[in-house]
Amino acid sequence: MVKNQIVTVTIEDIGNDGEGIGKVEGYTLFVKGAIIGDVAKVKVLKAKKTYGYAKVEELITPSPDRVTPRCAVSGRCGGCQMQHLSYEKQLAHKADKVKNCLQRIGGLSEEHLAEVMEPIIGMDEPFHYRNKAQYPVGIGRDGKPVMGFYAGHSHNIIDCADCAIQEPVNAVILPVVKAFIEEYGVSAYDEEKGTGLLRHVLTRVGFHTKEVMVCLIINGKKFPKAEILAERVKTAVEEFGLNADTSCRYTLKSFCLNVNTAKTNVILGNEILPVYGETYITDYIGDIKYQISPLSFYQVNPEQTVKLYNKALEYADLSGGETVWDLYCGIGTISLFLAQKAGQVYGVEIVPQAIEDAKKNAVLNGMTNAEFFAGAAEDVMPAKYRESKGSMRADVICVDPPRKGCEESLLDTIVAMEPERIVYVSCDPATLARDVKYLGEKGYLVKKVCPVDQFAHTGHVETVVLLGNQKTKPDSHIKLSVDMDEFNKVKNGEK
Ligand code: SAH
Repeated sequence: MVKNQIVTVTIEDIGNDGEGIGKVEGYTLFVKGAIIGDVAKVKVLKAKKTYGYAKVEELITPSPDRVTPRCAVSGRCGGCQMQHLSYEKQLAHKADKVKNCLQRIGGLSEEHLAEVMEPIIGMDEPFHYRNKAQYPVGIGRDGKPVMGFYAGHSHNIIDCADCAIQEPVNAVILPVVKAFIEEYGVSAYDEEKGTGLLRHVLTRVGFHTKEVMVCLIINGKKFPKAEILAERVKTAVEEFGLNADTSCRYTLKSFCLNVNTAKTNVILGNEILPVYGETYITDYIGDIKYQISPLSFYQVNPEQTVKLYNKALEYADLSGGETVWDLYCGIGTISLFLAQKAGQVYGVEIVPQAIEDAKKNAVLNGMTNAEFFAGAAEDVMPAKYRESKGSMRADVICVDPPRKGCEESLLDTIVAMEPERIVYVSCDPATLARDVKYLGEKGYLVKKVCPVDQFAHTGHVETVVLLGNQKTKPDSHIKLSVDMDEFNKVKNGEK
């Protein structure tokens, strides 16, 4: 295969970035914009020895699972990768991905998986689900400001206010900001030169409270006439709420500035300057209330988060007196959720600000049985275990690590603490499967698996796994084996 070659390919699988995967005489092609079942003429963009990247030139036979994307910019925007695949098939694909990883990397048998895997939990309505948006601001070809989303794998901004997965109220906020900066001649940030004032527009909306936050990320300390803009945004948001189609009472609770003068890809700086209202909004997950600032990590799909946490709570099987550890706890969302049913919960998180938020959220909810520690889980847990001279125990340990999964030193400490149950919440099935395999060798058996879709139209999938202690409660013997070549292939999207 060579660059610019045109070939016909049948798409048989989906890769990690939602791209179609097909084979031509044993050669693997990753095809952007193609989905399982498509037969397409594609043009090779990049050719490696055994695999290459291509784009669709002509759809010969479209897949029966193709749907019309809701977004006009869906082919260009990097936010979604699979809007053109029916939601039902997206879910089936995600469930398969979890199953394949647990089988190939985790070493679980087909029969074991058939027994423990629950159906994937999808969304009732897979649009307008996000409660947080970060719109980059730049200068368009015509010299006018643009705001929207980055195109896939680039920093070109696709101008778009009305995103199909964002909270609908965003669609009225961006045009107000855009018109204002044009009227007052506020400069848009130029990423290459590091000049210009407005870098990003961040919005957050409380799913239950409909409280709205707008935060302008600026390359400076002052934003001209910010109060006037805040007033205009407030009017737009409230009028939108009165509109008969939405009939939600949106209120602008916070309009603030975030100072970021560094020439970096990191979106937010540390300093927040209030302009109107508070510097946080309030929202609920189940019965627990949280205050969320521009800097807080907070799950972005509230409808699915409560389903995910309820699954974690179900697997934790708490009856009231248990000691529970919640590792990688963020702002303590899972910790407080579990604390409703546990004796004592301890949370560990690497970002100190998140731990401050977690402590505040415990107070906000009058919960006294949750304690939080700042630090890396793989440092804090082994250190605490050593300090306790090996006497530290837990009934349930919950982990929710970032994509790279857990360090072995942490898994060893978890095993040494002999919890009855481990609840593993994961955003990456490959590292989940690797860790499940490791825990399996140390006596923890997979009892339940439930994929949850938190990010419709993207390739991401969240999974909750329950592992039970085999030493105290032995179960049927399950053969485990792992092949690292298989692991790396799946991880690199080659499988
Ligand atoms: N459980 C939380 C957050 C999950 S995201 C929730 O549901 O909202 C993963 C979290 O792990 C992030 O908050 C991240 O800051 C934190 N993190 C990353 N590496 C870590 C480490 N080595 N030790 C502890 N926390 C870590």
